[in-house]
Formats: sequence, C-alpha cells, structure tokens
Amino acid sequence: MQVGSPISKMRKIDLTNFQVATSETARDINRRIVLNLIRSHQPISRADLARHSGLQRSTVSVIAEQLIAERWVTEGANGHTLRGRRPTFLHLNKKRVGIIGVNIRPATTSVALADLDAHFVSQESLITANSPEQFIADLVPRVRNLIKMRPEITCEGIGVSLPGRVDLLSQRLVFAPNLGWHDFDLKTPLEQATGLPVELENAANACALSEIWFGRHSEGVSNLLAVTISEGIGTGLILNHQLLRGSSGLAGEFGHITLVEDGLECPCGNRGCWEVYASNAAAVRYYSQSTGRGKAGAKLPGQAPPFDDVLRLAEQGDLKAIEAINEMARYLGAGLAILVTGLSPDIIVVIGEVTRLWNLIGPIITDIVRKRSFSSAATRIVPTDPSGEPRLRGTIALVLQKHFGAPSVA
Ligand SMILES: [Zn+2]
Repeated sequence: MQVGSPISKMRKIDLTNFQVATSETARDINRRIVLNLIRSHQPISRADLARHSGLQRSTVSVIAEQLIAERWVTEGANGHTLRGRRPTFLHLNKKRVGIIGVNIRPATTSVALADLDAHFVSQESLITANSPEQFIADLVPRVRNLIKMRPEITCEGIGVSLPGRVDLLSQRLVFAPNLGWHDFDLKTPLEQATGLPVELENAANACALSEIWFGRHSEGVSNLLAVTISEGIGTGLILNHQLLRGSSGLAGEFGHITLVEDGLECPCGNRGCWEVYASNAAAVRYYSQSTGRGKAGAKLPGQAPPFDDVLRLAEQGDLKAIEAINEMARYLGAGLAILVTGLSPDIIVVIGEVTRLWNLIGPIITDIVRKRSFSSAATRIVPTDPSGEPRLRGTIALVLQKHFGAPSVA
C-alpha cells in the first residue's frame, strides 16, 4: 500500500468465515483491480494503471495482456496525445458481452440490452402484470426478442431490480407489498425460459450499486445510501464498500420503520411506516385532501390524480400541489435524519421523480436533517442524475459484479 493511502481503502477480512488467500486469490484480486480501473478511467495507459493501483508496471503489463487475450480489453491510441513517447491506451471491449436489464415497477417494467460499458443499446417497456406467473409469460418473449435483434452480442446474463426483497438462500421474492406479489420464484422460470443466469436484487440495492459504480458522486466514497422514492420508499446501503443485506436479505427496509405511532395503515400490514408519509402516494393523498379528491388532472371525476400530475402542477406553481410536495419533503427529511444520525454515511443519493423539484425539496430536507441530526455535517444529500437510470443501470452492475466485483476472500 502506498504511503498516504486513505485507511478506508484497506480490505477487512471476516475471520469467522474465510478462505485462505492463495497466490491465485492474489492474482484474481489484482486482475479485478486492473479491470475496474480500466472501466472507471478508460482510456488509460499501463503507466497510469500502475500509478493508480500501486502494482508493479510489469504486473500490470502481464494482467493487461491476459485481459486483451480474453477480449475483455482492447488497445487503441485514442487517448490524450502526450509529448514524447505516446503510450497506447486501454479500454473495455464493450462489444464482448451484453447484459439484459429488467426494472420491475408496479405499473410498468422496462427491459433493456446494455453493452459492457452499461450503455443501453436497446430498450422497451411493458405493463407489469398483476400476477408474477403472467408477468413471466409477458417478459420472456421480450427478452428473447432483444437477444434476437442483436445477434452479434453474446448475452452474459439477466439482472432484475424489483420493488421487494429477495431471500438470500432461496432466491425467492419474499416481500413486495407494492407489487402485491407473494412469495414467488422469479429466477428459475426466467432462467429456464432464456437459458441465461438471472440475478435478482431489490431496486434500492440496485440503485446503490449503480451510484457506486457509475454515479458522479462516488469518487472516494465508501459509505453510500441510495433512497428510492416512488410508490414506496426503499433504501440500499453500501457500508464500508459492501452492500448490506442482513442475515436474510431483508436489511434496508427503512421505508417500513414506524415514523408515526398509530399512524395510517401501510400495504406491509403495519401502521405509520415512513413510506406512508413520504412516498409519491403520500403526496397524492396530501394533494387530494386539500383539494377535495383532487379533481384537477384526474382522469375520472373524484379520482385521485397520478403523482406525475401533482408534480407537474407544482412545477407550474399550483400552491396546493406545492404544499403537498412540501409536506412529503418534510417527512422525507424526518426519515433521512434518522438514517444520518444512525449511520453517518458519506453521501445519500435520492432517486425518484420528485427530485425534479430538488430546488423546492432539497432545502426543506437538509434543514430538517441539520436540525435533528448532530452528525449531519459529514453527510451530503444529493439527487441522482435521472438520465443515468439507476434502477436499470444497477442491474447491469449486478451481472458484471462477478467479473469486476470483489472476489470472495472474506
Ligand atoms: Zn410498511
């Protein structure tokens, strides 16, 4: 390790559950380090790889040749031109494999084909069926179609993000109150029908992965919280560089911590959950209450308007819509203050349509967090870049993890 390296970069080994490191493990770790540095810094020279990794120049060259031979990496001179000797630059061979990403939401699901750079080559959406069996029947032909449309791309696997939790051992979907699906095996039928390995992950965890892999705020960050705000609220926690799953895979359900004692009923069966007061559905309820069933923007008279309409009205300056969004923001702040006080992350990235109004909600949220949490100074709270599509992009990271992620030494 280089002198002056931040201590947070040190790898911790779990001494109760470990594999002894062999020279093969060391080679594997170095290979992943180099592959990841190429991914995040491409185009990059061998000299810069050695500088960034702290590895010997000769070690870097051996690994680079191996990665080129295996077609993970290609060599080209389209980096910056330097004076004197011109180094050749390395970049990912983005055509080597494709990854199918599936982002399931209660109303619609998007399906995309991405290259190794997590660039979406093709994307489409379908209506999310009420039953998981029907959903699989609708999804499979779409996936097959995407694969058929780009025969030059070999698919590596399917990553799925969903608004629910997946049991770590059984890989079954076990908790998805906003989808209304009960205990279900989504993985096996999808694998059987497509012949591709399937990785399932909670949407907030997928977002956390996306933000740490591709996000613009992830440089030097080891503790990151992704908070997804949609029909419900999800949180994905990366603590000390690791995704926190808990013993069963259910960790991170802060959306269902009780914020209001004896409060309103939640789809999870409890009362007063944070998401009942701070989700998109909450803002719709606040707006409907203040307008008397929210006729403005409603498709049918007397029906509550969709969240998009409330958001649009607020953007247009409608005072009742603005107040509904403000109320949602106050509850968001109250919940985030708990997360900041309890976990003191480097950064919280907020994901969801409501971030379009960050100028309005950002100050409300940070003000409440500042007032309630004494450790707030260390935590930045920022909106995501929606064009990054973190829910979908996280599924790509999910599949690529086995090549680029940390090996299982701990
Ligand atoms: Zn709940």
